[in-house]
Amino acid sequence: MSLDRREFLLALAAASALPAAAKAAPWRAGFATVDITPPLGVWMGGYAARKEPAQGIAQPLHAKALAVADSAGRRAVVVSLDVLGLTEPAVDRIAGAVRRQYGLSRQQLLLCSSHTHSGPIIRDQLAVAYDLKPVQWDQVRASTRRIEGQVIEAAGRALGSMQPSRLRWAQGEAGFAANRRTAINLDGPVDHAVPVLAVERPDGRLAGVVFGYACHNTTLPASFVRYHGDYAGVAKADLERRHPGVTALFIQGCGADANPQPRGTLELAEQHGHELADAVDRALAGAAEVTGPLRTAFTTVSLAYAPAPGAEAWRRKLDDENVYVRRHAQMMLDVIARDGRTVAAESAPLHVLRLGSLCMVALSGEVVADYALAIRQKYGRGTWVAGYTDSVFGYVPSARVLREGGYEGGEAMLYFGRPGPFADTVEATVLNGVDALMAAAGVTPAEGT
Ligand SMILES: [Zn+2]
Repeated sequence: MSLDRREFLLALAAASALPAAAKAAPWRAGFATVDITPPLGVWMGGYAARKEPAQGIAQPLHAKALAVADSAGRRAVVVSLDVLGLTEPAVDRIAGAVRRQYGLSRQQLLLCSSHTHSGPIIRDQLAVAYDLKPVQWDQVRASTRRIEGQVIEAAGRALGSMQPSRLRWAQGEAGFAANRRTAINLDGPVDHAVPVLAVERPDGRLAGVVFGYACHNTTLPASFVRYHGDYAGVAKADLERRHPGVTALFIQGCGADANPQPRGTLELAEQHGHELADAVDRALAGAAEVTGPLRTAFTTVSLAYAPAPGAEAWRRKLDDENVYVRRHAQMMLDVIARDGRTVAAESAPLHVLRLGSLCMVALSGEVVADYALAIRQKYGRGTWVAGYTDSVFGYVPSARVLREGGYEGGEAMLYFGRPGPFADTVEATVLNGVDALMAAAGVTPAEGT
């Protein structure tokens, strides 16, 4: 057999591609999906104005897990779930069980809530906002316990299904998030980034996609009383329909001061979800390969509250005309009677998950866009900044938003049953914590830019 020069070169290229194909799976990755839709009749979280509990299922709610390991066997699990947010006790129980059953430490487990306002209340989160009977709180607690078990199950199933994989990463953009504090500041920032992580099998088949967006899942209004994942739920379902066999996970960004625009109907939630899925698909087309290693880092920072009033001031509020102010004042008095004082600081979890050149910073609480913009400016445009990870204890304003005040600046903390706004050290405390984690994960500011 004789080869001309062109054929010879083609044959050579094919032969040299073989070892590359064998090396083409530097990761192992697995997915799991668990339906966490609660029974009908459980009160839904997020809107104080809601008048009735869940009457139907417009879309099933899910916990979806990605388990990933590098060639040295270092593992991490990211769980994304269609709820408003987890509470610290729920996170502790889930993380404890995952450690006991699967040997994963807290820094290897990220629990990311989509912040849908059409899912069940989690435990006593935002208890000031809801006027429920004891039996209804019992339903909420039973639903939360069930979901905790389902998240643990999702993590285990994802770990058990890991297969050789390649990872690709890209960042797209979608424009429907709008800063929602325009009454206070017309020039407030908004983050339109759509970070995307694709998991492919060695044969090139897409197995899963993890994508983010920084915007409240509040297209659906308080009058909507059927379970639904809002725009994020639509985008996930859309991507899974477009790519059969794929598992799609949504990661909420620093969307605390952003709402979808326009909003108010199921049709608009579908419109935004399709737009987000389109952005993910466009980004996938140009995604670049990510190689190891996997690094994780975790800490909790203590976010101090501004000095809170004493018992006498809370007692005066028991006569306030606003029912939420009265309920909150009674809660603060109960805390003082029990502990001698209201809580002085919040324990806020922070994560860094590094997959080679891709670095995800995952913050707890409802985090405003300033944080994502500051972290990306320092560590590079490609840094993925998530909020609503682990516990969602309240809003985390930047120094600017804290100064400006308003709902995200501190007023919302009443509904979370917290004593008031954070102290003006909040932004520096979070960003210093992120810097320490980045250093621990081997990420330097220069590297990311
Ligand atoms: Zn919110």
